[in-house]
Amino acid sequence: MEFIDSHAHLNDEAFDADRKEVIEQCFATGVKRMAEIACEVNEWAPALKLSAEYEGAIFPVCGVHPDYASTLNSQTLKDLENYLLKPEVKALGEIGLDYNEYEGCPKDREMQKYAFDVQLKLSAKLNMPIVLHCRKSRAADDFSAYEDMFSILKNNIYTGGIMHCFSGREQDAFRALDMGYKLGVNGIIGYKKNDDLRAVIKKAGLKYLHLETDCPYLPPQSKRGQRNNPSYIPEIAVTVAEVTGESLAKTADITTQNTIEVYKLKI
Ligand SMILES: [Zn+2]
Repeated sequence: MEFIDSHAHLNDEAFDADRKEVIEQCFATGVKRMAEIACEVNEWAPALKLSAEYEGAIFPVCGVHPDYASTLNSQTLKDLENYLLKPEVKALGEIGLDYNEYEGCPKDREMQKYAFDVQLKLSAKLNMPIVLHCRKSRAADDFSAYEDMFSILKNNIYTGGIMHCFSGREQDAFRALDMGYKLGVNGIIGYKKNDDLRAVIKKAGLKYLHLETDCPYLPPQSKRGQRNNPSYIPEIAVTVAEVTGESLAKTADITTQNTIEVYKLKI
């Protein structure tokens, strides 16, 4: 069985002490390829460097994450375009909206919307798939992050891609699927409180899913409190197989195929 981690942050400082060992461990557990998501201008060059060290196994995805929206200006946008034109960069991301405000961290929603929209226009210009990030505010019934995201998407050309770390409602999942975006599933699928998410993932089915870790964040249930890494993808796959009622082999096969397709990887 071969797996791909469709969303990792291996350049995070959490891996500074043992990055090489972690990556070797991933290969040993069948996770043969990983998308390295570079979230802002200072992360793009290091992502390309890492991918050059593991050619064909680690591939970069570059963009401006909503938490870095204020760093997007005409110069960084031009730099981003230049990165996206490099053949090793497989998608534009992660981009979108993040309304999760914690104490002392107010978020400028208008600035995020602007950065998202500008980058969507760039994805259309370059005909590139995108990796979407959408995180709702802490208020239980406030889904404005999703409402705003869909209304901005609707005003742009759909280039397809992954709705990473999907954690919305069923209606959000199916709106994303209708627009050509598949759902990224990570360790949160196994968290005890996430019955609703499991129901949505079951309903979507394997054809519409990508496996991801979002490491070093969000470890699977059995590793909670620890650093996450891509070698836990098979554990996430086991949970997805249970949730969808499919075999592990089929889960690996179809989700890997989905990720090969979206990032246009070599088979
Ligand atoms: Zn991420």
